Amino acid sequence: MTPNSNYGRVYNFSAGPAVLPVPVLEQVRDELLCLPGVGSSVLEISHRSKAFDQILDQTLADLRTLLQIPEGYSIAFLQGGSRLQFSMIPMNLLRGTDKTAEYIVTGTWGKSALAEAKKEGATKVLWDGKEGNYSSLPNIDELGSSADAAYVHLTSNETIQGVQFAGDPALAAPVVCDCSSDFLSRPVDVSKYGLIYACAQKNAGPAGVTAVIIRDDLLARGSDDLPGYLLYRNHVDGKSCYNTPPTFAIYVMGLVIKWLINDIGGLDKMAAANQAKAGLLYSLIDQYPTVFQGHAEKGVRSMMNVTFRLPSDELQAEFLAAAKAANCTDLKGHRSVGGIRASIYNAMPTAGVETLASVMRDFAAKHA
Ligand SMILES: *Cc1c(COP(=O)(O)O)cnc(C)c1O
Repeated sequence: MTPNSNYGRVYNFSAGPAVLPVPVLEQVRDELLCLPGVGSSVLEISHRSKAFDQILDQTLADLRTLLQIPEGYSIAFLQGGSRLQFSMIPMNLLRGTDKTAEYIVTGTWGKSALAEAKKEGATKVLWDGKEGNYSSLPNIDELGSSADAAYVHLTSNETIQGVQFAGDPALAAPVVCDCSSDFLSRPVDVSKYGLIYACAQKNAGPAGVTAVIIRDDLLARGSDDLPGYLLYRNHVDGKSCYNTPPTFAIYVMGLVIKWLINDIGGLDKMAAANQAKAGLLYSLIDQYPTVFQGHAEKGVRSMMNVTFRLPSDELQAEFLAAAKAANCTDLKGHRSVGGIRASIYNAMPTAGVETLASVMRDFAAKHA
């Protein structure tokens, strides 16, 4: 294996846990036995040690820089995935109030988030895309959201259906956004949100850590009667060390954030690269509509998860085999939707998308 080889790596289109930047994996490898200047592996040191505290502080500071998180917002790194956030959000922001939480349901994840909120208090569905099989998105301004709502919940990118909101909503009530599958893929105006959350394993790191960015006034909500782990302010007050945090996952996420800042050059550049990658695949879907049937409507297509079907199960199997022969793996759509899903997160190289595009072109030439 030469230093320039790709280590036998395939083009992995998994929806998550998903591809990570090679330079990050290389640094993890190089430092795994001994963190420079520390004398132990990051896996072996206390979360209260000076060495980990530095990693944590640097990661918090770099995330603030990268996402331009304004004053008045706090960050917590939690466990339990985005799914625990489906419960923690209504536990902290809805339970015990006389308010209603509003949900915009644009796919599988939004539906699951709503189901958990119903256990905690009053909910209202502002919009549900079920009738269109979650292939479209609403105009958020026109949904009649109440300024008095406990919060409005939306999913910026529905990972399974492949529909993504283009910009940041402007609503009077606090907007709570599940950004799990497009976190750090593009700039976000954090000031438009009350709370943003994202599990790391789609686009920001390994499984095991979930980032929560919360507006400080919302930390006052949530009763001390809640189990201690489930109260946001305990995590913010304890700088994500209320209990032992997922130290290794935070360390790797910190390296991914550094990679975005130093190697990529920030989120504008990352977004442009993501647009270009997605454009390659969508243009083939548009060029060969009888072979590739895109799931999402044109205006709401995801830059992260490209979803489409082939005309028959046989052709789908043939397509997956052709992709596999070209080293493109993990393209089978989610079991609930079927078809093909190409997840092309930040760390998917352009060469991987170009390879998949050439598989699609060859396949279309044969079957159109
Ligand atoms: C993957 C995903 C989740 C679930 O994340 P877990 O970490 O498995 O709990 C929630 N929302 C979205 C949008 C996702 O992509």
